[in-house]
Amino acid sequence: MLPPEGGENATDQVERLIALLAKLPGMGRRSARRAALKLLRDPGGLMLPLADAMRATAEAVRPCRICGNLDTRDPCHICVDPHREQDIVCVVEGVADLWALERARVHRGLYHVLGGVLSALSGVGPGDLRIESLLARVSAGEIREVILALPATVDGATTAHYLHDRLRPSGVVVTRLAQGVPMGGALDVMDDGTLAAALKARRPA
Ligand SMILES: [Zn+2]
Repeated sequence: MLPPEGGENATDQVERLIALLAKLPGMGRRSARRAALKLLRDPGGLMLPLADAMRATAEAVRPCRICGNLDTRDPCHICVDPHREQDIVCVVEGVADLWALERARVHRGLYHVLGGVLSALSGVGPGDLRIESLLARVSAGEIREVILALPATVDGATTAHYLHDRLRPSGVVVTRLAQGVPMGGALDVMDDGTLAAALKARRPA
């Protein structure tokens, strides 16, 4: 049977699903096809619950206006936690790094998510990152130390230098992770012990 005029047939829908799945990190076209097949084989047990969970999460989760973390509340649960050290802010590239530090339970202060790192190659400039909001937080005067927990890449180092320069006039103490971070290493793939050691042994930037 021919699909209705202008309508979308089943193959188009499956192809669209595969194309969307293939946008996920670590998913090539081939893994996306396998995932789609797995979902299609179990619509009631897997595909619809997943679709429901995705819709509910998409509607409930938003970026924290203070730190940029993703949470169901804004400000996020970390920013409003009175037991956290309010005068130490750990600057990370992305939410995955924040989650890695939280998993490792090594940082008891607050965070600031930049939303990327400076990159001449990818055309990411200071205006594309949450830098002004970091400077505003620091000028508010409560913050004593800023820990730069950025990836050990050229772009990560460039970003750290840039931030250090911008933070210097405020007089805040700026530190960075010790060289426990493997070169080229992203924070969220480090094991908890390495991450803890890198944070404990942090030194002046
Ligand atoms: Zn927050």
